[in-house]
Amino acid sequence: MGEEQKSSLRTATLELLRNKEGRPATLPFITRVTELSKYLSLNKQLQDEIEKVSTVFPFRIPEFYLKLMDKENPLCPLKMQSLPSLEELRGTGEADPLGEEPASVTSSFIKKYPGRGVFLAGVQCAMYCRFCNRRRFVGRQWNTKSSWEESFLQMERLVDLKEIIVSGGDPFMLPVSDFAYVMERLRAIERIKIIRVSTRIPVVYPDGLSRDHIEALSGIPSLWIVIHINHPREVSPEFIDAVRRLREIGANILSQTVLLRRVNDCARVLHILFENLVTLGIKPYYLFQLDEVMGAGHFKVKLEEGIRIMRYLRKNCSGLAIPHYALDITGGFGKIPLDHRYVKRRKGNEVYVESPAGVVGIYTDNGKKSVCTSCGLCEGYVN
Ligand code: SF4
Repeated sequence: MGEEQKSSLRTATLELLRNKEGRPATLPFITRVTELSKYLSLNKQLQDEIEKVSTVFPFRIPEFYLKLMDKENPLCPLKMQSLPSLEELRGTGEADPLGEEPASVTSSFIKKYPGRGVFLAGVQCAMYCRFCNRRRFVGRQWNTKSSWEESFLQMERLVDLKEIIVSGGDPFMLPVSDFAYVMERLRAIERIKIIRVSTRIPVVYPDGLSRDHIEALSGIPSLWIVIHINHPREVSPEFIDAVRRLREIGANILSQTVLLRRVNDCARVLHILFENLVTLGIKPYYLFQLDEVMGAGHFKVKLEEGIRIMRYLRKNCSGLAIPHYALDITGGFGKIPLDHRYVKRRKGNEVYVESPAGVVGIYTDNGKKSVCTSCGLCEGYVN
């Protein structure tokens, strides 16, 4: 067989495998320093550092994401988010900053808030972000599948449950058959009206969002996809295409962004990111202050800087492009909004409010007290 024939046979075989799973035949992830050196020029000291840190916190970067990096720039925001750094071993922080362990019903189901729960579909991600608030188990030996059935059973019993957040790890890292099974089981629970899927795959490994994964989502009446994205450089043509494919099945798309020192702690960078997202039909949902997670303190941004950034965004962007700026305090007490305090003071009915541009005006707060009109809508309402 000639070289040309061999090559086309190989392409045809790869295509066949791709069609079977709807994904490329080989998963193109870099997990070893030696492989990484083929893409980035790393001196010996850097290689040793990465090796050392990755024995404590696993590292994995998709080939796709590496290609988006600015190879020449040591402060490339994509490198900062994905390359292990010695600073991870120096800082303090919590293993479980959101207090998820005490709220775990099973190893795959967390119930912290009224009306909604989190289903941990798996622990694999295409990339292990260096500031992940679930790094205590993400990328490690942790089996959530063994408790799936118990979790579905518990969900069926919970009378207040209306919304499930499918998270992990990245749910799209599940094999298609498992992913489709999870969706089928969740849809079968009549009380669940909203399914939310949290993912970073469209950003870091868009090929991982196979057509079969998307097919498994189609027909869900209230489907929300929340995409974790932190920087305008992450908006690639492939990301745009993944978003388009999700929108084609009627998914509502939101974004969440973590405010990270030396990555995106700049009002203009976030302005560009959020306006780009709105143009693509994605509503910026949350800008998170970094959680107190172990080994990530070097990414922390001062609160006053975050507030300053939000003030700039309010003044300069369309309201569509403004996310909620919020933090979770350690222990899992829920999200606390951190926006600029617009109400300055009150004198009788006069409330002094400050606009994002710094202009103080008076609002006359003389509405009458709200009363129940006995409309009856609340009868039998849980919560
Ligand atoms: S994609 Fe999300 S869950 Fe996975 S490592 Fe990054 S932040 Fe953590």
